[in-house]
Amino acid sequence: MEKRDYYKILGVDKGSTQAEIKKAYRKLVKKYHPDVNKDDGAEDKFKEVQESYEILSDESKRKAYDQYGHAGTAGFGGSSGHSGFNGYSQGTPFDMGDIFNTFFGGEGGFGFGNTQQQARVRGSDIKYRMRLKFEESIKGGAFELRVERDIPCSYCDGTGSETKKTKVCNTCGGSGRVQKVQRTILGSIAINGMCDTCNGSGKIPEKNCSECGGMGIKVERENEKIKIPAGTYDGMVLRFRGGGNAGPKGTPSGDLYIEIEVEPSKEFERRGNDIYTMEDVVIHVAVLGGDIKVKTPYGKVTLKIPKGTEAGSIFRIREKGMPILAKEGMKGDLYVRVDLEIPKRLSRKEKKLWEELGEIS
Ligand SMILES: [Zn+2]
Ligand SMILES: [Zn+2]
Repeated sequence: MEKRDYYKILGVDKGSTQAEIKKAYRKLVKKYHPDVNKDDGAEDKFKEVQESYEILSDESKRKAYDQYGHAGTAGFGGSSGHSGFNGYSQGTPFDMGDIFNTFFGGEGGFGFGNTQQQARVRGSDIKYRMRLKFEESIKGGAFELRVERDIPCSYCDGTGSETKKTKVCNTCGGSGRVQKVQRTILGSIAINGMCDTCNGSGKIPEKNCSECGGMGIKVERENEKIKIPAGTYDGMVLRFRGGGNAGPKGTPSGDLYIEIEVEPSKEFERRGNDIYTMEDVVIHVAVLGGDIKVKTPYGKVTLKIPKGTEAGSIFRIREKGMPILAKEGMKGDLYVRVDLEIPKRLSRKEKKLWEELGEIS
């Protein structure tokens, strides 16, 4: 069966903002929700809408889809199994995110291997970008971010039910599973699929909640403290498990992804875990040797300049570079390239001394 265009399904255009996509999604979900719409084909429409939203509401998945079409999203779908590497936080969501830079890579967390259909019902992931100053990327710490997400509806405690009570789903009789006929090139086959009326839970609201229409979720905007590890880099993606949108009717939340953007510094340039900087040296120190003060991200340090130092020489100061991620206490090195400072305005005495130097050399 030919898959339809996700944008067309939601009735939005390619340049739509996340807010427009969300708005379109909500409207369609209300229209085709199996609880309210018993028309033939409504259920399929509902599923199509959900699938479209899952992809388009996630900027990474959306990008893959824009670029490669449906093939680009084949690996996505449903809950992602495990963390990036080194899990910063086992069991403490919102504390420190997993570093998750293998978003499009072969991490294997997405899709395949997750045969438990039921586990797929969860809130969607949300993604934000956070801009840090270079100095902030070195220190890390807690940074405030305004996050908009679906949270369980407080009126019905996320149950979607006005009475907070549920009843047995009449579509599946409470099993959460239904026989579905799937058409393939080999003919029609019956599969035991998840019930879409109850999202596999076997239960539906006794009476749909008047606040949230039975979905059990509402939108909330909140300032959140996000912990960023010291040594974070431009383009790093952190995953906060369970920090995404709440799922419908009390199902688990998706994840929150934060992509870090680091502003370039005027003074320091990062290369891997090392930092490069420039420092001017007055000409007599370069000729005779001596100590100079060098700026580092951790304050000034003294660097010994040997006599006869040429412009462009590079000196290494150990362990004044970037904190190395996931290796506490370890740092890269700082490289200092020296430039010669040629005096432009000379006093009478200086002028005389330079003249004398010129005469003898
Ligand atoms: Zn509610
Ligand atoms: Zn059901």
